Amino acid sequence: YSKGILDGNIVTTTDYKPDLSKYIIELKDVRKSYVTGDLETPVLKGIDIKLNKADFIVILGPSGSGKTTFLNIISGLDKATEGDVFVLGSNLSLLKDSHLTKFRRWHVGFIFQQYNLLTNLTAKENAEVGENLSRTKNPDMTIDDIFETIGMKDQMNKYPHQMSGGQQQRVSIARALAKNPDILFADEPTGALDEEMGRKVLEILVQVNKRYKTTVIVVTHNPNIAKIGNTVIHIRNGLIDEVIKNDHPADPSTIDWS
Ligand code: ADP
Repeated sequence: YSKGILDGNIVTTTDYKPDLSKYIIELKDVRKSYVTGDLETPVLKGIDIKLNKADFIVILGPSGSGKTTFLNIISGLDKATEGDVFVLGSNLSLLKDSHLTKFRRWHVGFIFQQYNLLTNLTAKENAEVGENLSRTKNPDMTIDDIFETIGMKDQMNKYPHQMSGGQQQRVSIARALAKNPDILFADEPTGALDEEMGRKVLEILVQVNKRYKTTVIVVTHNPNIAKIGNTVIHIRNGLIDEVIKNDHPADPSTIDWS
C-alpha cells in the first residue's frame, strides 16, 4: 500500500512524511471558520487525529457540533482554514482546486442523507455512472458483485421511482463503490429512512467494510448507530471529546433505533 493521490505524486510539506502504511487520514491542528459578512464563526477549533486504514469509523456528536464540517474537510469537499489534512499521504490543504476535484473523483465515494440518483437511469446505470468516474478497476468489485453485496442483484433494471427509499440508498452505495474508492464517506445515511430500511443500509455499509476492506466513515447524531463503528470519534463544540476503540462493534440488526 503506497498509493499516493494524483498518479502516485504525494503532495506534502517537506518536513513531515505521513505513515501511509498505517494511517489513511492524519489531521494536525485543523481549524475551520465560516465567515459571513464581518462575522467569523469558528466551527472546528483544533482537531488532531490519526485514522487507520480499513476501519469502520463513526463521527458522533450533537447537531451543530461540527460533524459535517469535519467530514467535508477530510473528504475534500471543503478546505480547512488552518492546519494539515493528510489523506492517502497527501496534504489536501496544499492541493489546488483542480487536484482536489480529481481527489474526490478518483479516491473517495460519497453517500448523503438524500440518495440523489438520476431518475431517468436504472439502478445498474446509476452505478455505471460511478464506474465511469473511476480510474482504477478492482476485479473483485464488479457491478454484479456490488449488487450482490447490496442485496439487489435481481433489481438492477429498476428505476428509482420503482424502489423504496432504502433500496435507493443501497443503489447510491453501489454507485459510490463502483468508483473503487479508498474511502467511503456517509453523512447521516439513514436520516431519511425508517428503522427497518435504515438497519439494512447500515448492515450493507458494515459488509462493504468487511468484504472490500474499504475504509468507511459515517457521520451520525445517534449514539446507538455509533455502536456499529470500531472507532468512534465524539465531537463536541468543534473539538474531539474522546476517541473510543471498540473491538466488538454492534451488529446493525440489533441496535435500538430510538
Ligand atoms: P453538525 O454536522 O454537527 O450538525 P455542522 O458542521 O453542519 O454541524 O455545523 C456546525 C456549525 O457551523 C453550525 O453552527 C452551523 O450553523 C455552522 N455552519 C455550517 N456550515 C456553514 C456555512 N457554510 N456557513 C456558515 N456557518 C455554517
